[in-house]
Amino acid sequence: MLSLSDPITKVPLIGPNYADKLHKLNIHTVGDLLHHYPIRYLDRSQFTTIQDLKDGEIATIIAEVLDFKNIYTKFGKNLQQAKVADATGQIQITWFNQSFLSRTIREGEWYAFSGRVKDYHGRLTLQAPEHERVDENSLSGWQRQGDPQKLPAGKEKFNQNTKSGSPADAIFGGVSLTGPAGSQLLPSLHTGRLVAVYPETAGVSSKWLRSRIKATLDTADITDHLAPATIQRYSLKPLSYSLTQIHFPESQDTLTLARHRLAFDELFFLQLEGTHKRHLLKQKQVSRLIQLHHQEIRHFIDSLPFKLTRAQHRATGQILEDLEKGSPMNRLLEGDVGSGKTVVAAIAAYATHLSGLKSLFMAPTEILANQHYRELTKLFAATNLSIGLRTGATKQIGEFDLTIGTHALLFDKNLSGSQAPARPPKPKAKEEEPPNNLGLIIIDEQHRFGVAQRAKLESLGDNPHRLTMSATPIPRTIALTLYGDLDVSIIDELPHGRERIKTWVVPSAKRTGAYRWIRDQIATQTAQVFVVCPLIDPSETDKLKEVKSARQEYDKLTKIFPDFKIGLIHGRLKSAEKNRAITDFKTRITQILVATPVIEVGIDIPQAAVIVIEAAERFGLAQLHQLRGRVGRGDTQSYCLLFTSTDTQTVSHRLTAMTRYHSGFKLAEIDLKIRGPGEVFGVMQHGFDALKLARLSNIKLIETTKEAATNIISTDPNLDHYPQLKVKLNLDTSPRTTLN
Ligand code: ADP
Ligand code: MG
Repeated sequence: MLSLSDPITKVPLIGPNYADKLHKLNIHTVGDLLHHYPIRYLDRSQFTTIQDLKDGEIATIIAEVLDFKNIYTKFGKNLQQAKVADATGQIQITWFNQSFLSRTIREGEWYAFSGRVKDYHGRLTLQAPEHERVDENSLSGWQRQGDPQKLPAGKEKFNQNTKSGSPADAIFGGVSLTGPAGSQLLPSLHTGRLVAVYPETAGVSSKWLRSRIKATLDTADITDHLAPATIQRYSLKPLSYSLTQIHFPESQDTLTLARHRLAFDELFFLQLEGTHKRHLLKQKQVSRLIQLHHQEIRHFIDSLPFKLTRAQHRATGQILEDLEKGSPMNRLLEGDVGSGKTVVAAIAAYATHLSGLKSLFMAPTEILANQHYRELTKLFAATNLSIGLRTGATKQIGEFDLTIGTHALLFDKNLSGSQAPARPPKPKAKEEEPPNNLGLIIIDEQHRFGVAQRAKLESLGDNPHRLTMSATPIPRTIALTLYGDLDVSIIDELPHGRERIKTWVVPSAKRTGAYRWIRDQIATQTAQVFVVCPLIDPSETDKLKEVKSARQEYDKLTKIFPDFKIGLIHGRLKSAEKNRAITDFKTRITQILVATPVIEVGIDIPQAAVIVIEAAERFGLAQLHQLRGRVGRGDTQSYCLLFTSTDTQTVSHRLTAMTRYHSGFKLAEIDLKIRGPGEVFGVMQHGFDALKLARLSNIKLIETTKEAATNIISTDPNLDHYPQLKVKLNLDTSPRTTLN
């Protein structure tokens, strides 16, 4: 019997040759093969037998061409006629002016024809259908064994995608009727109505996959990894049933149930992994407890040049509470750019310092490290907390209460406490080792650190508290799923007094008026204007196209605003030229700066008060929000103009959201519903690749699986009563294997 962890070559008829091809589809084990889910299904009921055809409908038949003629009428018209037949009858097909068909349609061969049925003088004909040749091998099998009466009648056109899944596949369940496995596979032919179409690769067709998956389903040992109680409690279908149904669904309903169960698994394992990690973390002990010096902390907060927002207060409270605990904090602090995360981290570092421990503050780039250093030096000016900066370029010597730096920090023996990543138990802190006094690690934008750096980060110190900060607006439920081992604090409001960026959607009809308004802003308000060029389809991956579009925009605006100076910045410029463009804009030599979407993100120009985004519909809401964040950094009212030439409903719904909402979280949530997480958050987030069926927009399933995972871990943290799950978690080293 096949085991799910067996290599794929254990499946009959899969040798090293096929195994190589399957690796391209990320299929390595028997389990991988069973979890290679269909991308869509062909509905066999969409094929009609000739006797069931009805006047006026669009139908698809599979028929043999008995006769094909190219006819020239006396009126100078050219038409093609074919007489075709299946086991139930004959029908005439007519095309007009398609004489080339005589080269592709041959008498004696079988085709799928799809077109409108028409009554012509009391006889049905098929009018100008599309055609596709049907696989001959399959057909001979069908002629021998098929029962045409069992082909269900139906009305719709067959699926137009001819790349994978030929009509023959659709009829025969894609199972080759010749060959050794054939006879065994016949039953599914007659019971299955929905036929799976898979992601394919060269030499691996859906048809072939179906036959190998069927063979695997018949012989593999598919033990359900969920306990019967879990299955019952959440009304799930068994694993083996679900795998069978997702590949060979009996009906739409069984397919839905199967997908639900398998989607449950995906989220459940993600949750279980996170919850388990979190449990392990809570078992750990910090080396030295932090005692909160409430009065001094309050004094520090009161001395800040501004009043904390409510959200900052809440987050600070949650963090301070964690710091006091004996188990290390592992918290994610999320908040829009400019929401004031740094000061919250600073308070945590201060609290740590008051308790005699040191803090590290890691930034992903040198620029950010410098920026934090400057800002924090100001914040701590009146305290006795010492700050040091360590980047590749700057290495301040000495021991500081708070050390800010880039990953250069990670390799500094003097700062990170004890070193070895996976330390075997050994007597603590020998004399020659640095004092183990690292209390807190703050990590800004952790996802921008590399894998090795992250691993190193995890191993720093002796279970210090960890605070990770991110400006990626991931809604809480989703953050908790993707980072199940983290607690999450969200800063969902901007500091008081910051003006909202007034945002308008500008359709084509109002463009001229908008330009007039912009002219006025520049002339009377000395406003400076960003113009962001359309996003170039990444599938075109053409840098030149982007540059071209930027130049065109520049030329266009030069004509519209001949009296203003306009700058241009794009990825192909040399870095001196880029700096020049930015400096000119900063010093008001230029009033308008045309920029490509990519280059634009890194630019920080506080006095720009207007941003125009061309072809705004091409951007996601999260992206638009990031772009919009380029203005509104000064103290004047800022504006964002979203130019669009389409007015479909989804587009206007999306863009209107930009005018109504100013929170990155709210916008990300809306975007998620419309576009899905891959688009919204990019592919870098851990866990996304493990989700093939589950949607992160399915909040209910996220919550259900979270509950299921939490229940299990809270009653049986070591999974002693769940041997199957235990095996899975222990095996889990990468997201890919999570599901197998
Ligand atoms: P981010 O969350 O993007 O890291 P920062 O921490 O850099 O944001 O804060 C952005 C700016 O807002 C900084 O100049 C900071 O001093 C200021 N700031 C932070 N909190 C407040 C507040 N409550 N009121 C006013 N300004 C604040
Ligand atoms: Mg920041």
